[in-house]
Amino acid sequence: MKTIYFDHAATTPVRKEVIDKMYPFFNEFYGNPSSIYDIATISKSAIEDSRKIIASVFNADAGEIFFTSGGTESDNWAIIGTALANEKKGKHIITSSVEHHAVLHTFEYLSRHGFEVTYLPVDENGKVKIDELKKAIRKDTILVSVMYANNEIGTIQPIEEISNICKDRKIIFHSDAVQAVGQIRIDLKKTGIDLLSMSAHKFNGPKGVGALFIRKGTKIDNFLHGGAQENKRRAGTENVPGIVGMAEAISLAYENMEEKNKKIIKLRDKIIDGIKNNIPHVKFNGDPVDRLPNNVNFSFRYIEGESLLLMLNMKGIAASSGSACTSGSLDPSHVLLSIGLSHEVAHGSLRITLGYENKEEEVDYLLQILPGIVQRLRDMSPLYDEFLKGEGDKNVQ
Ligand code: PLP
Repeated sequence: MKTIYFDHAATTPVRKEVIDKMYPFFNEFYGNPSSIYDIATISKSAIEDSRKIIASVFNADAGEIFFTSGGTESDNWAIIGTALANEKKGKHIITSSVEHHAVLHTFEYLSRHGFEVTYLPVDENGKVKIDELKKAIRKDTILVSVMYANNEIGTIQPIEEISNICKDRKIIFHSDAVQAVGQIRIDLKKTGIDLLSMSAHKFNGPKGVGALFIRKGTKIDNFLHGGAQENKRRAGTENVPGIVGMAEAISLAYENMEEKNKKIIKLRDKIIDGIKNNIPHVKFNGDPVDRLPNNVNFSFRYIEGESLLLMLNMKGIAASSGSACTSGSLDPSHVLLSIGLSHEVAHGSLRITLGYENKEEEVDYLLQILPGIVQRLRDMSPLYDEFLKGEGDKNVQ
């Protein structure tokens, strides 16, 4: 049975065109880009061409794109590098309560090293409250980090507003755009974002490669120390095949994006309507409008998300109950708790994230089997039994 893959927020399949572009850099132009012979200078030029391609997608300058090992490194570099470079000015840093752990754990690390952190609350749709941001900013605030779009519930943050507030107050603004890049257009000349993280494996590129956009003039320390690669900003022999693959993947992702998104949004909305109309006691999570084109997130009352995933897997469907990085832990998702769900409701969540290769038949198949699976799990659930007897909490319709 072929897997129906509905977990594109976790990672995506690498496109054939991307693999083809990468291939010669493994066994033909394998020279170290820092060397001077032909097979090395060819790999060095490929890196610079890739940098230009990626910069042009974001209306940035090539000199503002720095290659990294992925989203986690880009986030760590942006946050720790800014904190250390600006600590004389102040030690107060701000982020939101719904960030990915690559950001949250980095802030926690800094809080153990003398920085003071404010975690901004979000509203019931997962959006940062702008008033709370304004209230949180102090004279000694040096950094605000708010993600572009959420990896679990797909909510797109009011990035423009946040960046204007930061710009007015001369505070560096970082955005983890790992889930947004490849899905929505981002113009870095129009927005005031100073630092932006991205990761190739989220847009049909290879794993283990990403980039950090650093706006010219942003005060930030280096994070990895060693050789003179990346204009002396990020040491380490470059992942040439990965970088070339990332550039090809990003070009393909942004080609006819609006048209491709129309198709994905249609499938997404079909799933949302199908679940709302055919399964009782569900809660739709995330913003209904400012939402990634590919994200569906629901909580199913009286069942465990993990059991739902196992049943779906038996039927050939790969989906997620929260962020892939936290599965394996029994803690409910911090994102779902932040938008006000109880532990119990948060535990019954399902995330479906679509990709360009998904077909309508796959969506139809999901909608055909999901109500039965949910009902079977509820039939086994003591909580549902209590609910039927009128003893349970009826908060969720
Ligand atoms: N930030 C967000 C929002 C993510 O979704 C992820 C990956 O799931 C990361 C950061 C980490 O990226 P990477 O897997 O490239 O380290």
